[in-house]
Amino acid sequence: MARVVIFSGAGISAESGLSTFRDTDGLWEKYRIEEICQAGCLSWNRENTLTFYDARREQLSSVTPNAAHYALSQLQEKYPNNIAIITQNVDDLFERAGCKDVLHLHGFLPRLRCEQCGATHLIGYTKQERTFTCKECGGSFRPDIVFFGEPAPMYEHLYEAMEECQFLVIIGSSGNVVAMDHFALHVKVSILNNLEPSDAINERVYTKVLHQKATEAVDEIVEDIERFMQG
Ligand SMILES: [Zn+2]
Repeated sequence: MARVVIFSGAGISAESGLSTFRDTDGLWEKYRIEEICQAGCLSWNRENTLTFYDARREQLSSVTPNAAHYALSQLQEKYPNNIAIITQNVDDLFERAGCKDVLHLHGFLPRLRCEQCGATHLIGYTKQERTFTCKECGGSFRPDIVFFGEPAPMYEHLYEAMEECQFLVIIGSSGNVVAMDHFALHVKVSILNNLEPSDAINERVYTKVLHQKATEAVDEIVEDIERFMQG
């Protein structure tokens, strides 16, 4: 198991130009969260929900990974068995930067999932064909995204990874959706890198706090990890 866990949220993707539901501009502004990404939306508001994710895939195709994604990818290449990348983000920017085995806690935007049997299907950045059905069971597909109020089965892998983790880095996560402070208490080193303090995070439990953009902080983070790996 990896000794270093890099846990990220919307902040790292924001620097590539992807807007999030906490932003007041862009794609999310036209929609209400309760109508397009909450459990049940696919039943009562299916077409609008699918259209929203079509638009998000299109937006994803227009952005590229940033320096933070690439720096972490290079680090992982250097220590392939010791750097676990875990993200709340549903975009593929880590993968496009070359990262391997990225754990997506909340799903993966370029992928659809069968509503009946769970089989998945990559569609990249294209629109979801509404009549497309599952080869395995004939069921209909949905975006492979964990909506608010739905079970998130990948959390189990987060807990497993944290059992072995000695060095935790949190990048661009407000702590509102996934609380990480308690993990920071049980590792040797913890770095928190957010643009600004968050009400949902107790910064005093972290070894180091960097109030910077991820692309600005990443070199220092990588240096600290390398020193830890060599020491
Ligand atoms: Zn199926």
